[in-house]
Amino acid sequence: MKPVNEIQTPQDLSAFWMPFTANQQFKAAPRILSSAKGVHYYSEDGRKILDGTAGLWCCNAGHGRREIAEAVSAQIGHLDFAPTFQMGHPLPFELADRLVEIAPPGFKHVFYTNSGSESVDTALKIALAWQRARGEGTRTRLIGRERGYHGVGFGGISVGGIPGNRKWFGSLLPGVDHLPHTLDIARNAFTRGLPNECPVLADELEKLVFLHDASNIAAVIVEPIAGSTGVIMPPKGYLKRLREICTKHGILLIFDEVITGFGRLGSPFAAQEFDVQPDMITCAKGLTNGAIPMGAVLVQGHIYDDMMAAGKGAIELFHGYTYSGHPVAAAAGLATLEIYRQEQLLTRARDMAGYWEEAVHALRGCKHVKDIRNYGLVAGIELEPMVGAPGKRAYEVFVRCFEKGALIRVTGDIIALSPPLIIEREHIDQLFNLLQDTLQAQA
Ligand code: PLP
Repeated sequence: MKPVNEIQTPQDLSAFWMPFTANQQFKAAPRILSSAKGVHYYSEDGRKILDGTAGLWCCNAGHGRREIAEAVSAQIGHLDFAPTFQMGHPLPFELADRLVEIAPPGFKHVFYTNSGSESVDTALKIALAWQRARGEGTRTRLIGRERGYHGVGFGGISVGGIPGNRKWFGSLLPGVDHLPHTLDIARNAFTRGLPNECPVLADELEKLVFLHDASNIAAVIVEPIAGSTGVIMPPKGYLKRLREICTKHGILLIFDEVITGFGRLGSPFAAQEFDVQPDMITCAKGLTNGAIPMGAVLVQGHIYDDMMAAGKGAIELFHGYTYSGHPVAAAAGLATLEIYRQEQLLTRARDMAGYWEEAVHALRGCKHVKDIRNYGLVAGIELEPMVGAPGKRAYEVFVRCFEKGALIRVTGDIIALSPPLIIEREHIDQLFNLLQDTLQAQA
């Protein structure tokens, strides 16, 4: 085996069927990253690329963190794998304690997965099992939201609200309904932070409860800020109102924090940032700084306690993955949380948010910019689509930015930005100057 820095991308790229990628388009003109350090990637053709997306919203502490590399390497040599079905090893217990410390109050338990998608499906299953365990087995309906992204498992695409992710896959979970999404450009274009209150949006949940009856509804799942569908903000008071309605009707509230978790908004989790207490939080990505796949569901004490009581000493939840609490992933998680603690990264977005906000809103007035949304270290820049070619304009901006030295993310005609939380002002300036030039050069 060659040393990693000597492995070159082969000429023929066909064997790797790439995810969420136009394979033929990509393979005709590939963009290959070969290494990364700090807030930069380095491309195979030797260019330095500013990472405006923390990889895929995951490398919150920046790239190439020595502490994580050392922890992973030491762990593989010490204990490469150990089962967690009716067996244990120290690391996932230790990591669960550290996660509970940074979680909002009342979150006392952690169920491990390997990804955000698995975290979502796990949380949905816990919700169904918990309702049944407390004698409410008719509560099987799950409620998601239009334009929600909850990964790619059958549970996640069912509660998710992205037509393209659903239409190819036949019958999804039965008994799912959706709240309306919260994007209202006509009223809120260029709002800084959260848009003004709009009580009718959350009250749509009351309508669904009226339609289906609370006795049939297990849980509501939402992203506090929807990331993947273009950085969609909750109006002020919206999440609190969802909480009130769920509590009133015995419905569990799940926050999908796969993107908003681990400091993205300026608090460890969005639940703390918005002062709303869900019953479960799904997370992944920033949990290991993206270095090793791992996800988790953080669970309120009362849910775990009820499940334990119902289990009567037998297996309480018939669910889990071979790699739940994998020692190497847990080692990466522990090293990551230690970096977050030492460098105070879980609240750094709060300090940088003002500068970030000014920088992104300076793009107002650039060609084709129709809306700008921001919170913490997240921003969405929505462009007018080209007539008859939705998504093409943003894709072109994405390719030009990459050529000029910045990695951005696009979804439809929306540019989504979420840099590593270690980003400095000079990098923010570089990113937005480059973006401004690129937008202005558009036809
Ligand atoms: N949930 C949310 C909110 C996400 O943003 C994502 C991924 O971006 C997922 C779930 C799925 O995570 P994964 O790709 O790790 O399965």
